[in-house]
Amino acid sequence: MKFNPEKCVVPDKRMQPFIDQNEIWNYINNTVSSKERVREVIAKSLSKLRLTLEETAVLINATDPELIEEIKQGARTLKERVYGNRIVLFAPLYIGNKCSNNCQYCGFRSTNTEAIRKTLNDEEIVKEVVALEENGQKRLILVYGEHKEYSPERIAHDVELVYSVKKDFGEIRRVNINAAPLDIQGFRTIGKSGIGTYQIFQETYNPEAYKQYHLGGKKADYDYRLTGLDRAQEAGIDDVGIGVLFGLYDWRFEVLSLVRHTNHLEACYNVGPHTISFPRIQDASSLNVDPKYMVSNSEFTRLVAILRLAVPYTGLILTARESAEIRNEVISFGVSQIDGGTKIELGGYDKFKNQEQDLNREQFKINDDRSLNEIIRDLLHTGYLPSFCTACYRQGRTGEHFMEFSVPGFIKRFCTPNAILTLAEYLMDYATDDVKIEGWKAIEKELAGLDNNANTEELKKRIELIKQGKHDLYF
Ligand code: SAM
Ligand code: SF4
Repeated sequence: MKFNPEKCVVPDKRMQPFIDQNEIWNYINNTVSSKERVREVIAKSLSKLRLTLEETAVLINATDPELIEEIKQGARTLKERVYGNRIVLFAPLYIGNKCSNNCQYCGFRSTNTEAIRKTLNDEEIVKEVVALEENGQKRLILVYGEHKEYSPERIAHDVELVYSVKKDFGEIRRVNINAAPLDIQGFRTIGKSGIGTYQIFQETYNPEAYKQYHLGGKKADYDYRLTGLDRAQEAGIDDVGIGVLFGLYDWRFEVLSLVRHTNHLEACYNVGPHTISFPRIQDASSLNVDPKYMVSNSEFTRLVAILRLAVPYTGLILTARESAEIRNEVISFGVSQIDGGTKIELGGYDKFKNQEQDLNREQFKINDDRSLNEIIRDLLHTGYLPSFCTACYRQGRTGEHFMEFSVPGFIKRFCTPNAILTLAEYLMDYATDDVKIEGWKAIEKELAGLDNNANTEELKKRIELIKQGKHDLYF
């Protein structure tokens, strides 16, 4: 059975639902996964071609441990060959946990009477941003429950407020959003505030499981959520993120549906999602989830490797929901962004700096509570190059992940130099002494690996300028 986008059971039309569960299950149930076929598919991905649904199903159906290891190795090779060792860092900033929806997996849901409800006011947002800037953060994602208080105007206001906060050398240079789907006018309002990516996770692409877990409020409307990012595109927001909450339904169905969603956006808007997120369900206050579909560590690491190969030019985001151990393994398969120094308690960066996690104040429990400095230290130790780069978005180079992938020399010309410059800035302004030593060593090593051309000379000059106190230099 071969996949042909034109022959999808549900043809792609703007703002029309596109998931047909029989089609997805057909691919899973009828695709044969021989050793030869798995190797062919991995080779196709390594030749920088995106996989079809049928080819993704070949990888999903590979159960032989030897083949699974080959898939993981394929993902590692793709990452090394194409993207190198950069990892972009960001932090989530929870703005408000009021919510009129009733998602059975989330501590913010309307029926959870234990939850302590709060929305940060301007003064509190400024305090949080100052605390984040004092840690060295440059990229944030603002997170909201779904509530009439969190209107597009309010979100746009918050975005502008965050950009305006400058503490010492600190500033936030990219603000992404994770909030409810809006109508086209709402997306237009937010688009004007200068956001980076707008993320909406479908949670589960299976309509029945979706119904079971979304018991009220606007989010109960599966189709409205599924077409949310179409409306963002219609409103001119072409930088969007999709995701699944793994553990609600069969992971194989979800992985294939993420690829189907990517196909849909490409077919209708000529641009796929900028990022894919793959949170796994974590413990939360009043969690009410059937454990049947919980995803084990081995399934999780496998599915991330499959996703990397299936959509080689889409950014992959991994959050502190996962432990440091799992994060380390999965990062090697080609994750491009991780959060660091994460606190998901409302007001947590400023007020609750030294307190234990409190599930009644949080949406769910996080498993990696290392500080940003510690994460950077660990990344450097394992040979990664931490980056706070925001250059493409500010230079209007949209679709940067695609360019990294497809434009020869793009990484050497832009990504690595910008990662080096932003790391140098972090080392000068925020790092502890041991991280400074490791960081400068890593920068020397990176410089030695770059071609000796005019760009490298200019990069060296700019590093010297940063050492003299200059900020925000990029290519
Ligand atoms: N309220 C908006 C929404 O539902 O899209 C945006 C923010 S919601 C707080 C962000 C994401 O957190 C959800 O899309 C869901 O995937 C994830 N999430 C909710 N409960 C979780 C849990 N118990 N463990 C892990 N992730 C969870
Ligand atoms: Fe509300 Fe989002 Fe939590 Fe659902 S996942 S209860 S919409 S905050």
